[in-house]
Amino acid sequence: MPRRQSSGGSKHRRPGRGTSRGPSPDPVCIGIDLGGTKIASGLVDATGHVQKPHLHPTQRDRPASAIISDVIDCLRHCWADDLPRVAAIGIGVAGQVEPDGTVAFAPNLRWHQVPLAREITKFVDCPVRVLNDVRAITYGVWKHGAGKGVDDLVCIFIGTGVGGGIVAQGELRTGANGTAGELGHTTVVAGGRKCHCPNRGCWEAYIGGWAIAERAREAVIADPAAGAGLIAKSGGSIDAIGAQHVDEAYREGDPLAHGIVDETVRYLVDGLVSVVNAIDPKVIVLGGGVMGGLTSFIDEINAGVRARSLPTATRGLRIVPAKLSQYSGVLGAATYAFESIGAS
Ligand SMILES: [Zn+2]
Repeated sequence: MPRRQSSGGSKHRRPGRGTSRGPSPDPVCIGIDLGGTKIASGLVDATGHVQKPHLHPTQRDRPASAIISDVIDCLRHCWADDLPRVAAIGIGVAGQVEPDGTVAFAPNLRWHQVPLAREITKFVDCPVRVLNDVRAITYGVWKHGAGKGVDDLVCIFIGTGVGGGIVAQGELRTGANGTAGELGHTTVVAGGRKCHCPNRGCWEAYIGGWAIAERAREAVIADPAAGAGLIAKSGGSIDAIGAQHVDEAYREGDPLAHGIVDETVRYLVDGLVSVVNAIDPKVIVLGGGVMGGLTSFIDEINAGVRARSLPTATRGLRIVPAKLSQYSGVLGAATYAFESIGAS
């Protein structure tokens, strides 16, 4: 496949060209975290140190080609002055990524079948690895965070949706089609709430931010007097009630919000019991915006999971809140790229 210079006109050398004399003593990888609101990037060394951290707005209502062009610009920003050291590029994307680096579906970006790895490879000579963003974060947690030193780790990120990543017996699981780890779409209630996927009763349809908001709106409609606090928080519109309003009202002692949060914790435990029984992890890391509001429940969550899981599966199990930065995806994607080429 012919390669061409990136748009923008400025002539640049590409990573992987070996522009220095001899091998670099300190190789780095570039990590990109491509989400619906921002493109985070940085250079990552073998110890997991992120250099040149950089954020760029995604402006997702543009064609994929324009967003990819911005990713190239972020790469260029990263490799300036460090080109000879760049060994590989790792990109985490909030979506389903096929083994060849094609983004099959990214709802936040409204991408369908975008061959991201192939497009980036037109501009660089080093290996490019693309994976789901939560799988990337999981990799970083495994190599440099709370999962360091264990062979069996599950990360679950509860934000608007529910994503996950599985490390089993010392390998990040991607599955036959790259979707392994989509724990949010495992069933917790047979025939239950409609999910955004084809299924009903998914874990995400109960504990995802969008589902918490939906449950809250239903509770308010059923009992407007009890929901007065939530209605006030959303500016008087039931339709505008979001998960963040539930969290705020909960912290202020609102009884209806308390009920919703307690129910959310129960559903969280329900799903975790299945995760523990099915995967038998040593460590479970819980992260994401919704989880940030539930960290005070971590002891209750641990106790609930231990009470209901297979006793053998909980031996030595630790369930902990994530300690992440806005560059955790960058770290994870770059570390994945590093290790996939055997450079670390
Ligand atoms: Zn689902």
